[in-house]
Amino acid sequence: MMRGMDDVRIGFGEDAHRLAAGRPLVLGGVAIAEAERGAVAHSDGDALLHAIADALLSAWALGDIGHHFPDTDPAHAGLDSSAIVARARAAVAGAAPSARLSQVSAVVTLDRPKLGPHRTAIAEALAALLGLPANRVGLTFKTSEGLAPDHVQARATVLFRAA
Ligand SMILES: [Zn+2]
Repeated sequence: MMRGMDDVRIGFGEDAHRLAAGRPLVLGGVAIAEAERGAVAHSDGDALLHAIADALLSAWALGDIGHHFPDTDPAHAGLDSSAIVARARAAVAGAAPSARLSQVSAVVTLDRPKLGPHRTAIAEALAALLGLPANRVGLTFKTSEGLAPDHVQARATVLFRAA
């Protein structure tokens, strides 16, 4: 590699959870209060944060959150998923100290409720969590057009630069 050239890394992550009544729905660390159903999960079931954490790890070939947070560990029950993202960021910092996250783009697929009214809150929460300006957090909200009404799915890409 030429000296002085950036080492550019892309990470991709994906996550999905089944939806059930009586569970909170949390996406990007934001509680979606009007949701009638929430994610069935060992942790808080935040599919968006799980996809982002996997993308962070993938960019540096550091495995996945299933490896770092086994769902058989009772210590992780009900875990706030921002802790999962924080641990992924710490793993990246350990493996690539000069790594600088410069962007995240994510797609969330959910039939109900519509997430558009939460876009600003989710973008700001992710920006704060990831140390990015909100205009470097791209969010796309989709429905499954009724093909998958019983689950929430998230996909995320991240871009890093390292000296
Ligand atoms: Zn998950």
